[in-house]
Amino acid sequence: MPDQHHAMPAAELLALDRQHVWHPYGPMPGRQEPMVVSCASGVRLRLAEPSQGQDELVDGMSSWWSAIHGYNHPVLNEAVTDQLGRMSHVMFGGLTHEPAVRLAARLVEITPPGLEHVFLADSGSVSVEVAVKMCLQYWRSTGRPGKTRLMTWRGGYHGDTWTPMAVCDPEGGMHELWSGILPRQLFADVPPSGFDAPVDPAYVDHLRSLLSAHADELAAVIVEPVVQGAGGMRFHNPGYLRVLRELCDEYDVLLILDEIATGFGRTGALFAADHAGMAPDVMCLGKSLTGGYLTLAATLCTERVADGISRGAVPVLAHGPTFMGNPLATAVALASIDLLLGQDWQREVKRIEAGLEEGLAPARDLPGVRDVRVLGAIGVVQLTHEVDVAAATRAAVREGVWVRPFRDLIYVMPPFVTGDGDVARICRAVCAAAAEG
Ligand SMILES: *Cc1c(COP(=O)(O)O)cnc(C)c1O
Repeated sequence: MPDQHHAMPAAELLALDRQHVWHPYGPMPGRQEPMVVSCASGVRLRLAEPSQGQDELVDGMSSWWSAIHGYNHPVLNEAVTDQLGRMSHVMFGGLTHEPAVRLAARLVEITPPGLEHVFLADSGSVSVEVAVKMCLQYWRSTGRPGKTRLMTWRGGYHGDTWTPMAVCDPEGGMHELWSGILPRQLFADVPPSGFDAPVDPAYVDHLRSLLSAHADELAAVIVEPVVQGAGGMRFHNPGYLRVLRELCDEYDVLLILDEIATGFGRTGALFAADHAGMAPDVMCLGKSLTGGYLTLAATLCTERVADGISRGAVPVLAHGPTFMGNPLATAVALASIDLLLGQDWQREVKRIEAGLEEGLAPARDLPGVRDVRVLGAIGVVQLTHEVDVAAATRAAVREGVWVRPFRDLIYVMPPFVTGDGDVARICRAVCAAAAEG
């Protein structure tokens, strides 16, 4: 990778950062000093200044699920620079362009059957806002304006803007602070844990009784399929998705799947819904959609939903972000999808899954470890206590690895291009972080 070109020394940068820059979920000024990254290539982040004796870190996080092909990928770089030479942006109202149109058609082609229409949004949270707006408007337009509430299960995470916050886990999560003033949505218990655990009939009854009691006021059920991410890194049996599909059909409620974290192969299926062979009415995509290059998300819906909206008194979907369909983002998303599907991605995800299974197994014997679980290219070590993030990060950096634990969880979802040696290294770092964090 190229040498750092920052004229500004790291110490000066950090001082300004501390003075002016807000970081995710942080106080102002920040209490933990971030590390300065000068560039990144493949699965490695280059630090502006060595930390714990390391000047490069293997990225265990794919920059929050997104960089599935790693950094500075020649194919993705070319897609961006090629598009940059034509136009970096043009408004989407009244105009259209090839990368957005081709991306939409490609998404329809590869997502579960029935999803025909694509709304391009700028971030995952906004795509959830759009999904909910679609569902509410569908019922309003089709003469059932009382159906305005949402149902979800506990333990979920759907983003940080207002509507998604209302369906995030209301307890212990980041949004507890707002529980008094957020709209009160309907929460089922957390789905029983375990991808391979049998479907629990008592839990199915629980879902049924909530849906049957509240069908008249429910616009949609919204869940993360198979993997609940930032709400607790839990896995459940895909069978619950088929159950939700049947119940939603029976009680005339729409079903939204939030595949923002799970989409594009992460769980071992291209979309988590594919594990269950089912299709939602509305689906949200984001994070790895652009291979981690640019911010972009998409909300897909069925003919029925689009039709219902378009037959209403206000026959339009009143949403249109300034940067909707951004050409750079849609061009790199197309290239990222082609890159993924043009290789045996399932083999790569399985290979990483096997590496994580093997490498994280020793964590089971560590004191303070409650559970170790792996699904696809996702590895999770859950502690019996809140992680000491600073100590855990230090321990991982000492092993040359970047992880970002939260709550009681040290978890990784490496880029699919991570070699076996680096997967083993990530696992050693997670074990070290679990021992010290
Ligand atoms: C990250 C995430 C979001 C929010 O996406 P942003 O791009 O951060 O707004 C929503 N849902 C799920 C499941 C996510 O993992």
